[in-house]
Amino acid sequence: MAKTAHIIGAGISGLSAGVRLANAGYLVHVHEATQQVGGRCRSYFDAATNLTIDNGNHLLLSANHHALAYARSIGSEAGLVGPAQAQFAFVDISTGQRWLLDLGDGRLPLWVLDESRRVPDTKLTDYLALSPLIWAGTSKLIGDTIHCKGVLYDRLVQPLLLAALNCDPPEGSAGLAGAIVRETLLAGGQACRPLVARDGLSAVLIDPAIKFLEGKGGSVRIGRELREVASEGGRVTALKFGGDDVVTLGPDDAVVLAVPPRSAAALLPGLSVPTKFRAIVNAHFRTDPPRDLPPLMGVVGGLVEWLFAFPQRLSVTISNGDRLVDMPREELAIAIWRDVCKAAGLPAEQQAQLPPWQIVRERRATFEATPEQNALRPGAKTAFRNLALAGDWTDTGLPATIEGSVRSGDRAADLVLAAH
Ligand SMILES: Cc1cc2nc3c(=O)[nH]c(=O)nc-3n(C[C@H](O)[C@H](O)[C@H](O)COP(=O)(O)OP(=O)(O)OC[C@H]3O[C@@H](n4cnc5c(N)ncnc54)[C@H](O)[C@@H]3O)c2cc1C
Repeated sequence: MAKTAHIIGAGISGLSAGVRLANAGYLVHVHEATQQVGGRCRSYFDAATNLTIDNGNHLLLSANHHALAYARSIGSEAGLVGPAQAQFAFVDISTGQRWLLDLGDGRLPLWVLDESRRVPDTKLTDYLALSPLIWAGTSKLIGDTIHCKGVLYDRLVQPLLLAALNCDPPEGSAGLAGAIVRETLLAGGQACRPLVARDGLSAVLIDPAIKFLEGKGGSVRIGRELREVASEGGRVTALKFGGDDVVTLGPDDAVVLAVPPRSAAALLPGLSVPTKFRAIVNAHFRTDPPRDLPPLMGVVGGLVEWLFAFPQRLSVTISNGDRLVDMPREELAIAIWRDVCKAAGLPAEQQAQLPPWQIVRERRATFEATPEQNALRPGAKTAFRNLALAGDWTDTGLPATIEGSVRSGDRAADLVLAAH
């Protein structure tokens, strides 16, 4: 009989652990507390815009090898699309200046040697000054490691690290930033090609995983919140979902707990977990993007940070968004639309008319990527031989990202496999 793995939480971490275990011959059952799968990475129909939108615009890079391998194993890699080259259009909406950052397709960041490909008004020495970040320790602040000022900082370093860490870069962990820089900028353009789930996060990263697991004889059940784990002799023996809904585990059965930190700490008292989080704000406007607008644009000098062009929709991401979570929604929509119009170069008559819009404020989008919070992240091993942890907040060496989530899921699955 096949060994069984119970995955708690149907986010990217849980699903990637489940897919890896199913590929290794396990019968996988996923239990999700809410009525929807995908966790913080999902799509839904939005009545205000009459469109299916994602809870947040998610950007992957070609450096995200675990995420891409996950998509490949569920047959949806082709749904992650982007330009053939690592090119990023930028605009400074305070001055109107536009530029294209062309990182090429090499394995080394040789573009920094070519003035015409560098960020405008920057010198080679500005890039060399970033080198202390490369091997910085996780307990160091970015602000104590590099100079967080100047043109290169404003036009590249700040937008990149703010997006990756979801906190103001000077207060972020230099070690986490270093991991991003090593795996992306330092690895040349071939590692920096931007990729988005063109048909939506659920269609590309979630639904195919569910189909894959069910196709292997497993199950995915929603509305099933794990309330308690029963244990004996260093092993989890039963999963209690409330009332008489109890799953008794066989001697070879394993559990991957892939829930957010607060739920994990409630289920495993004494577990060290991050306790502080940061918001991400996304705004979606129903409008046809101008034909010449790139699919992704970095925006500096305003409120908006990244502008995404989807069919029938312009969408915006603002990281470290705690300052915006209590702002009246319409006021925020108007302020963001003003920036969108400038960035996309929309005609004046469109600026005056707010199209159908939606604002999604994810208050606990990511753990706070500061040295203090990073130090609280646990590994995948727990006090129980048959229970492994997964989640973007576990100690992956990366900030809270899809890539980190998949790595955590893969690592938890490998721990389960190694135990047998
Ligand atoms: C707005 C936004 C924008 C983002 N942008 C990007 C981006 O551009 N690029 C990028 O790489 N990453 C991005 N991220 C981060 C990425 O979405 C997360 O890292 C990833 O989705 C986390 O997945 P997870 O499985 O670790 O956690 P979650 O998605 O939180 O999954 C945990 C699941 O466990 C369930 N659960 C909780 N308690 C229980 C219980 N007791 N029993 C059963 N189930 C339970 C939850 O309901 C949830 O479904 C963004 C996140 C947000 C919110």
